[in-house]
Amino acid sequence: MNNSISIPYMNLSVTNSEERNKLLSRIDKVLLHGRLINGPEVSLFEEIIAKKCNTKYAIGVSSGGSALLLALLSLDIGKGDEVIIPSMSWISTAHAVSMTGATPVFADINNDLNVSVRSIESMINDKTKAVIPVHFMGKMCDLSPIDKLCKSRGIYLIEDASQAFGASQNGIKSGQTGIVNCFSLNSMKLLASLGEAGVITTNNINLALKLKSLRYCGMTDKEHSNTPSLNHRLETIQAAALLERLETFEQRKNRRREIAHTYDNAFASLPFEFIPDSYNGEDVYYGYTLLIDDRDQFMNHMKLSGIETKIKHAPLMCDQLPYKECLSDIGNARKIVNRIVCIPNHEGLTNNEVKIIIQAVEKFYE
Ligand SMILES: *Cc1c(COP(=O)(O)O)cnc(C)c1O
Repeated sequence: MNNSISIPYMNLSVTNSEERNKLLSRIDKVLLHGRLINGPEVSLFEEIIAKKCNTKYAIGVSSGGSALLLALLSLDIGKGDEVIIPSMSWISTAHAVSMTGATPVFADINNDLNVSVRSIESMINDKTKAVIPVHFMGKMCDLSPIDKLCKSRGIYLIEDASQAFGASQNGIKSGQTGIVNCFSLNSMKLLASLGEAGVITTNNINLALKLKSLRYCGMTDKEHSNTPSLNHRLETIQAAALLERLETFEQRKNRRREIAHTYDNAFASLPFEFIPDSYNGEDVYYGYTLLIDDRDQFMNHMKLSGIETKIKHAPLMCDQLPYKECLSDIGNARKIVNRIVCIPNHEGLTNNEVKIIIQAVEKFYE
């Protein structure tokens, strides 16, 4: 811990006593009924998520990475197959593909940091089985051209909506378009558990049943297992906490959007780029990204002002050790990755802290 940091990038402690008491009381109920696994909170949570994502089914799992892995396995994707993903995301998107035995293929990104449909199209070949767009930093990809492309080429669309629970575009919610869609609900995400959690959405009953089997050792009933798989279940205590956090989700989301719009206005005349809100939807701002040429100097300046900033996500996934041989044409991602930096934008910031952050950014350009 750096003592001179007065505004950390994020603060996961639950300091609001009303919120803490509500969480504790939900957990207390689980302790008393004792169904720590497959408790009623899990199915209730799944019902609500399915409704919120406009899908028929939701399957709770133990993490976003597990969600991606099981989604791919449920579609029988494995060795010899290729899956196209953006070159910039949290590394789990690539590793989930690799863990099935399939090969991740890295596509370029647009200036809004989301995957480019033109780049996806140029990478499709006979081995391509699926595309996984990531709604980067809570801004939804324009899914309709990607969906059209996938359908016309007989390829599965899987959303990695880990950073975008609650986001929408053109009336479409995140997590409703793909054949299966994945969310991480770890404690840093917008809909945050008290540790690790994830959820998968789908409209396909057969896939829903397969996913339920895959999340518990490939079991088909209490005795029989027909697929090798490990335990990836969502814990009842996490589901209970998530039910509580769903109650306040809209407020949290709106506060993040309010902070983002305050930043947008304050930065409009400054000489760097930021990612504006979608005019036809709602971004949920998992992060608020600036694109700054002298980024390292900027981060240092912010640190000296007591403000923690973060780079999300570098290096590019294709530059990580397991994927270094990748020769994708990803020129725009390479240009962008050296400039991205996120400033604090979590819903717990006070208006005064937002003001201090804006003043520190302005000072860098004086
Ligand atoms: C967080 C995240 C994941 C992984 O989720 P975990 O719950 O940490 O396993 C996958 N993809 C993206 C885009 C993420 O942000």
